[in-house]
Amino acid sequence: MRSVSSALCGLVVFGAIASGQAAGNQSTNKKVFISADMEGISGISASDQLSATGAEYNRSRKLMADDVNAAVRGARRGGATDIVVNDSHGSMRNLRLEDLDNQVRLISHSFKRSGMMEGLDESFDAVIFIGYHAKAGHPGGLFAHTGSGVVRDVRVNGRSLGEGGLNTMVAASYGVPVVLVTGDDVAVMQVAEAATAAKMVAVKRAINPRAVELRPFAAVHREIETAAYEGIRDAKKFSPQRAAAYQVEVQFQDVAIPEVAQSLPSMSRPSPDTIAFTTDSMPKAYTLIRLLYRYINPD
Ligand SMILES: [Zn+2]
Repeated sequence: MRSVSSALCGLVVFGAIASGQAAGNQSTNKKVFISADMEGISGISASDQLSATGAEYNRSRKLMADDVNAAVRGARRGGATDIVVNDSHGSMRNLRLEDLDNQVRLISHSFKRSGMMEGLDESFDAVIFIGYHAKAGHPGGLFAHTGSGVVRDVRVNGRSLGEGGLNTMVAASYGVPVVLVTGDDVAVMQVAEAATAAKMVAVKRAINPRAVELRPFAAVHREIETAAYEGIRDAKKFSPQRAAAYQVEVQFQDVAIPEVAQSLPSMSRPSPDTIAFTTDSMPKAYTLIRLLYRYINPD
């Protein structure tokens, strides 16, 4: 696994690119949704860069904006005229509007039901994930987790998914393709399992959950811009992918949250550390997953 992923540092393209690769299909006036996390931003290597109390936090806010802006430049060249950036990390108040391209709209603050996918609907033409990280439990991904540190695993219809996988399912339920994912090499390889047609840019190489090899900014930003350009240029919406039912299991690191959450209507506790429920839409499932891990505080 490690030797394979090491070889992926750089611009790598997974799976089949959506069928619109041929020249001549470029259209303009595309509406693009960018979900920006922080752990997988280029240049970010340590936890003191990830929250407002950290010594290097202000530096990393700027680094986050730099990666987003590289994607915005490419998206514009690819035909995007309306771009919404959803701050998707922690407080979700990391990005400063003044650091971003002066025409994007910014969704800010974490008190939102759909978290990393807040604001997305069927009116968008494409989705981009910037700064993503590996899912909970991965032994090598930098800052690997799902949602927050309280989660051990999330499974939807029996499939274990990290944030990128869950977010891809939300986008698919609106018929909107994920066209680009950036993050460390482990993260992009994982998200590629769900976002099979997206381009991947590994901005750094995870040596283990703490150590990382950072790539030069100029090369990374160039690759993000190019991949965003090609991804948006070729983006093709599809029929909304919706299952008849979404069976969700959220497994926690301990039993405290399940102890209380089992009281919620339609929630069950199939094992001491797991809450399960079934619902009829992925966006709805997503809001409930977020409610479970974020808004029940056992402390
Ligand atoms: Zn994050």
